[in-house]
Amino acid sequence: GVNGHAVVHMEDEADTSSGRGVATSSKYAAIQEQRANLPIARGETHSTIPAISIHDPSFATIGKEALLNEFREHDVTVLLGETGSGKTTQVPQYLLESGLAGEGMIAVTQPRRVAATSLAARVAAEQNGRVGSVVGYSVRFDERSSTDTRIKYLTDGMIFRELLSDPLLSKYSVVIVDEAHERSLRTDLLIANLKTIQQKRNDASQGKGKGKEKEKERLKIIIMSATLDAEKFAKFFPGSKIIYVQGRQHPVTIYHSAQGQLDYVDSAMRTFFQIHVDQPPGDVLIFLPGQEDIESLDNSIRLYANQLPPNQQEVLICTMYASQAPGQNAKVFNATPPNTRKCILATNIAETSITIPGVKYVIDTGKCKEKRYLAKNTGGGFDTLMTRDITKSSAMQRAGRAGREGPGFCFRLYTEESFKSMALSAEPEIMRSISALKTLFLIGGLDQSGEITQLGREMAAFPLEPVYSRAVLASKEYGCTNEVLTIIAVLSASSKVFVDSSEQRDAVAEARKKFKHGSGDHLTVLNVVRAYKDVALSENKSGRREWCRKHFLNERALLEANDIREQLQQTCERLGIDWKVSCGDGDEPVIQSFGQGLAMNTAFLQPDGTYKQTMGQSTVKIHPSSTLCDKKAPTIVYDEVVYTNQIYARGVSIISKSFLAGLGALKVRQA
Ligand code: ADP
Ligand code: MG
Repeated sequence: GVNGHAVVHMEDEADTSSGRGVATSSKYAAIQEQRANLPIARGETHSTIPAISIHDPSFATIGKEALLNEFREHDVTVLLGETGSGKTTQVPQYLLESGLAGEGMIAVTQPRRVAATSLAARVAAEQNGRVGSVVGYSVRFDERSSTDTRIKYLTDGMIFRELLSDPLLSKYSVVIVDEAHERSLRTDLLIANLKTIQQKRNDASQGKGKGKEKEKERLKIIIMSATLDAEKFAKFFPGSKIIYVQGRQHPVTIYHSAQGQLDYVDSAMRTFFQIHVDQPPGDVLIFLPGQEDIESLDNSIRLYANQLPPNQQEVLICTMYASQAPGQNAKVFNATPPNTRKCILATNIAETSITIPGVKYVIDTGKCKEKRYLAKNTGGGFDTLMTRDITKSSAMQRAGRAGREGPGFCFRLYTEESFKSMALSAEPEIMRSISALKTLFLIGGLDQSGEITQLGREMAAFPLEPVYSRAVLASKEYGCTNEVLTIIAVLSASSKVFVDSSEQRDAVAEARKKFKHGSGDHLTVLNVVRAYKDVALSENKSGRREWCRKHFLNERALLEANDIREQLQQTCERLGIDWKVSCGDGDEPVIQSFGQGLAMNTAFLQPDGTYKQTMGQSTVKIHPSSTLCDKKAPTIVYDEVVYTNQIYARGVSIISKSFLAGLGALKVRQA
C-alpha cells in the first residue's frame, strides 16, 4: 500500500501547500483525509433516482468496494456522477491500489490538455510522488512518464498517436474515457476503436493460458461522464453496466439578467464588483469563452480593485485556460488568503473537467468557444473556433459549480428567455468536423477507400495537425526541412509570437518592419526566429527579454517553439529525414512545402480585392495582422481562417499560380 512508502518531498506543480515549512507527512495525511471524504469514496446515498430510463435500474448506491466489484464483473462500465464527486482522480487510484489493473497501465483520457496535466499533478500528490513516477501524463509536445508509471492521464489525441505504434494498446489493462458527455470528435472515435480492440484482446485471451496470463491480456473500459445522458454509450457496448455516483450538491440560487447584454466582459466586471461589495465572503468563478476575454477582464478588475476603499476585502485574481503555463494554472488551487476574495477567470475547462474548491458565486457569460465546421453557403467550408452560446446542459453545470461546499449563487449574464432557447446539449463534434476527412484525402493521408496510406502513417508520426505533417514531409522533396520545422514550431506554440497591442498599433508596425518578408507571413516568422537567435548569441537573459519587449514579441512562445522544434527533429530522425537540409535564403521551396499541406487553404484574388477559395466557393479577406494585408497577391496560401463578422485568412503567403495548377487545385475549382 501507499501508506507504507517513505515520505518523498514534493516539488512538482501540484505542490500547492501554503507553508513550505509544514512537514510533508501531515500534508499527505490531510490529502488522504480529503480523498476519504469524497462522495465516490463514501458511497453517499441519494434519495431520488435520476429521471432517466436505464436498462438496468439497480442504480446501486455504491462505495469504493462495491464500485470495484462492478469493475471486476463488467468489461465495460459507464460511470456517471456529478462534477467533483471524485471520478477522475479516485477511480484510477482504486484500480491501482486494489490490484484490479493487474500488471498493465491505466490510461485516463481527457479532451483538454490542461485537465490532463493538472489532474496528473493532483493524483501524483495523492500518491505521494512526483508527476512522471507512478502517475504521469502525456499531452502534445509534453510527456512525463517513466517505466514506473502506472496511471497515465493523456489527451485523446495522444492515445490516438499511441494506437499507431501499438494498435491493441497492449500496455494498458484499463482505458478510462473521461468527459464522454462532451462528445468530442476524438472521444467518439476512440470509443469506436476501443470496442474493436477489446473484442480482439478478449478473443485472444480466451485461447491462451489461465489465470494471470489471461488477466493481462483482457482490456477493461470505463466510460465516465458528468451528465446522466449515458444510454447511448451503454447501448454501444452490450453487456455494459451503468453506475451512478451520488455527488454533493447544495442549492444554488440562479439570477438571470433582465435584458440581454451587449458586452459580456463589461457586464461580468460590474457583476463581480456588486458581489464583492455587497455579498458575504466566498470565491467567485467567472466563465468566459477564451484567453482574450480573460485577459481583458483580468485587466479591468485589477484596475478597479485598486480603487476600492482600504476597508474592503482584497481581490485575488486567478486565471485558467488552455494555453496558460501549467504553473500559473495550478495557482487556482492555492488556499485563499485571509481577508481576500478569490476571483477565478476560466474557460469551460472549469465546467466539468476541473473542480476548484471554495467557489460560492458563479458568473456565467453564457458563451464558449467551439470548433465548428462552417458550411455556410459554401461548397468547401471551414473548421474554425468560434464564440457561441452555450447549451442548457453547460449552463446547468456552470451553475452547479457554486453549490459544491454550501448554498451558492449563480448570476447569468443573459435572460431567462435566452436560457430557455438554448440547445439542450452539444451536438457531437463528429457531426460538425467531417471536413477533416476530406482534407486528409486531398493531401494524400487517406486513399479512395478511406484507408490510411504510407504517407498518412508517416504524417501521423508527427505530433502535428496533418496539414503541417504533410508540409514537413514535402520539405524533404523541396530541400528545406530546416526552415519548415522552424516555422511550424512557432505556429504550434501555445501562444502567439506576435503580441498585439491595439493602442500602439503604429509602434508595433514600426518595430516589426525589419522582420517583414515580401512573400508573406511564413517567411516573416522565420525572420523573427533568425533575428532572435542572433540576439541570443550576444545578449544575456535580460537583454533578450528587453529585445522581445521592444519588438512586441512573446519570448515564451519563442522558447516553447524551440522545444517543439527539438521534438520535431527527433521525429524526423526516427523517419530518416535529414532535418539539417536548408534552402538558405530561398522562399519558394518553403512556401510550396506549406502549399502541399495547406492545399485546401489556397485562394485567388478577385476583382473586388477579396479572395475566392480554389477548392470551395467561399470568399475570404486577408487578416489585418498579415504582412500581405494591403498587397494584391494573385494567389495565396494560408494557415487558418478566423471567423468574426468577416471570414479572414490568417498566416498568409504568396504562392505561385503554376504551383496551384500543378496541385490540380485550380482544376478542381473549374470542375
Ligand atoms: P470528478 O471527476 O468526479 O468531477 P475529481 O476527481 O476531478 O471529480 O475531483 C475530486 C476532488 O479533487 C475535487 O474536490 C477537486 O477540488 C479536488 N482536486 C482536483 N485537483 C486538485 C488540485 N490540483 N488541488 C486540490 N484539489 C484538487
Ligand atoms: Mg472528472
